[in-house]
Amino acid sequence: MKFGTKAIHAGQHPDPTTGAVMTPIYQTSTFAQESPGKHKGFEYARTQNPTRSALEANLAALENAKFGRCFGSGLAATDSILKTLKPGDEIISTNDLYGGTFRLFTKVYEQYGLKFQFINMTDASMLTEAFTPNTRLVWIETPTNPMMNIIDIETVVKMAKQHGAITVVDNTFASPYLQNPIDLGADVVMHSVTKYISGHSDVVMGFVGTNNPAIDEQIGFIQNASGAVPGPQDCFLVLRGVKTLHVRMDRHCYNGEQVARFLKSHDAVDKVYWPGFDDHPNHAIAKKQMKNFGGMLSFALKEDSQSKAFSVLEKLKVFTLAESLGGVESLAGHPASMTHASIPREQRLAGGLTDSLIRLSVGIEDHEDLIADLHEALS
Ligand SMILES: *Cc1c(COP(=O)(O)O)cnc(C)c1O
Repeated sequence: MKFGTKAIHAGQHPDPTTGAVMTPIYQTSTFAQESPGKHKGFEYARTQNPTRSALEANLAALENAKFGRCFGSGLAATDSILKTLKPGDEIISTNDLYGGTFRLFTKVYEQYGLKFQFINMTDASMLTEAFTPNTRLVWIETPTNPMMNIIDIETVVKMAKQHGAITVVDNTFASPYLQNPIDLGADVVMHSVTKYISGHSDVVMGFVGTNNPAIDEQIGFIQNASGAVPGPQDCFLVLRGVKTLHVRMDRHCYNGEQVARFLKSHDAVDKVYWPGFDDHPNHAIAKKQMKNFGGMLSFALKEDSQSKAFSVLEKLKVFTLAESLGGVESLAGHPASMTHASIPREQRLAGGLTDSLIRLSVGIEDHEDLIADLHEALS
């Protein structure tokens, strides 16, 4: 089955008792048993819930994964993956990582004895030097946030395999429509479902998918044992949102390109970071591993100051100044003071994250209105 058909049908069947075409919200914490241990596959809603099961099967299908598990947030999904490791295990990750992931790694898991290295993975030779006999996991995010660097998933996977480590890809920015890490050899794919998959900025949720039954068993054990599960109402909302993922993504990509080209030609703009440009340093890899370039982009102003960026952001009317991304509505943010404020300025600047950098999540409105809004704010 192709992507759009799977988005609408995978994991979903008319309700066996009523014929309801849409998966009901099974708002129940527990399920009746005929005799102790004899039940219809559901005992207690932390362990299994039919609305969640339908969504997990759907998202697994979209990532070409055999197994999938949903969590109460993207970070809860990441947390479950880290809980499969033991003190002394080492993790190699990217140097421009989602801020919340960086915080979870360094502020929570370092104190439990996990060791992290953050390196520039667009340069594969740096990766070679980072492996040690204790490396268990390589964590990548591509495109990266907010610099829109692209990491070659197949190359990283190959190197990780040689060193006996598994590769996890945070696929949030691309969405399963544009990039499928499992097909590129990754062991685990992770999503902040909050973003493109849900698509309407009304749910916080996470997902972990894999083809490896042993990994899935561990993740499933932690899902139940730690209990960071999403409720059935949220699962219903995501089932509803995901049905249009392919249609939304096409429009996000189209609008993203229009906005990127407009900004690139604007006098007040210094640099535009969007992997669809021929002169983007990782354009060839993006073309190889992604179906299209997505709706996320960042740009820096010629007058590189926080106050200039703030004045542009304050003038925007169609773009909403807010954290997050991937919804139908366009959002703008200032990474240096918002999502990436916890990263020291020196470290930020080294990666190109300047004081005037503005990140856009280009929505699916009419692109003429988005461009007019930016034109007005920049002038
Ligand atoms: C938002 C985000 C997360 C965290 O997900 P939550 O649902 O907010 O917990 C992780 N990775 C990326 C790339 C994100 O954008």
